[in-house]
Amino acid sequence: MDCLFCGIVAREIPATVVHEGPRTLAFRDLNPQAPTHVLVIPKDHHATAAALADADPAYAGEVLAAAAAVARMEGLDSGYRLVANTGDDAGQSVSHLHWHVLGGRVLDWPPG
Ligand code: AMP
Repeated sequence: MDCLFCGIVAREIPATVVHEGPRTLAFRDLNPQAPTHVLVIPKDHHATAAALADADPAYAGEVLAAAAAVARMEGLDSGYRLVANTGDDAGQSVSHLHWHVLGGRVLDWPPG
């Protein structure tokens, strides 16, 4: 399968990895939208959060726990945002579940 994030998991594509678990990986976004912008993914290929929650709810929880660990590691004590863009209308550009962990500044709400 030709998947960018599977390539990062396989270490075929370089990334700045900040956290790794047995089944999760977290790395800095190439085009950060906030002082902290980390992507947290399952190592196995699942297209969306919903697909993973359907297939393996415990694994979906593991990915969320990894996102929370990253937020703690990055010192985002005053707040952060978790976003999983899902599908075309949300602008999902990589079809491998990724939680964006965004923080380090006051984040606008609602987003544009
Ligand atoms: P989304 O638009 O929600 O699917 O998010 C995809 C994210 O992946 C974007 O924020 C991109 O900047 C990011 N991205 C694309 N390629 C890479 C890469 N090679 N390493 C790290 N982040 C990437």
